[in-house]
Amino acid sequence: MSLLRIIYLPIFSICAFAQDGQELISCLEQKGITNLTTSTSSSTFDSLLRFSLQNLRYTEPGVHKPYVLILQQEREQVVNSVRCHIKNGWQIVVRSGGHSYEALSSTFDASNFAIIELINFNHVTIDMKSKTTWVDAGAMVGQLYSAIACSTADYGFPAGVCPTMGTSRHFSG
Ligand SMILES: Cc1cc2nc3c(=O)[nH]c(=O)nc-3n(C[C@H](O)[C@H](O)[C@H](O)COP(=O)(O)OP(=O)(O)OC[C@H]3O[C@@H](n4cnc5c(N)ncnc54)[C@H](O)[C@@H]3O)c2cc1C
Repeated sequence: MSLLRIIYLPIFSICAFAQDGQELISCLEQKGITNLTTSTSSSTFDSLLRFSLQNLRYTEPGVHKPYVLILQQEREQVVNSVRCHIKNGWQIVVRSGGHSYEALSSTFDASNFAIIELINFNHVTIDMKSKTTWVDAGAMVGQLYSAIACSTADYGFPAGVCPTMGTSRHFSG
């Protein structure tokens, strides 16, 4: 059981030609993407940023923080988000499990970036007939173990010991 449905999102190195955060937010809202929080508008921003960050050194002052954190739930939303970022000259950092010790999924070299958080994009579908599992990019390995265990006593998937690791980057190296 190892077929993965992983959305690979390149980290875009786009020339920053316009860094107006409001234009980015308007673009996202026009496309129906409202499940987001910005560093300037929400008191929950910091806790959302930190909740899966494994190396707390990267929470210190002076470390670049994203302007906006977008919680994606559907594939179409991810696509539309990427389009808005490109159009408005913003960098994207994708976070699935957030386990990167180097905080590659939480910070960036420049300050004009947003995090596309995939934790809500986490369906796991098991088809015992074909012995196939489809796993969304934001599912944690613990969710995968659990879904398999609920479907069969004969199969499993060996991955990390830590259940909160993202399947995305764990499986893709
Ligand atoms: C506490 C801890 C325990 C660990 N235990 C184990 C273990 O037992 N076994 C093991 O093999 N490894 C282990 N690891 C290492 C772990 O497998 C890697 O850190 C892995 O990259 C984590 O995946 P993630 O999805 O959580 O990463 P994230 O931090 O979410 O992402 C890592 C990188 O991939 C990018 N990325 C994330 N999702 C996507 C996507 N869909 N498309 C494109 N880019 C994406 C991010 O932007 C970032 O650059 C552990 C790490 C930690 C911190």
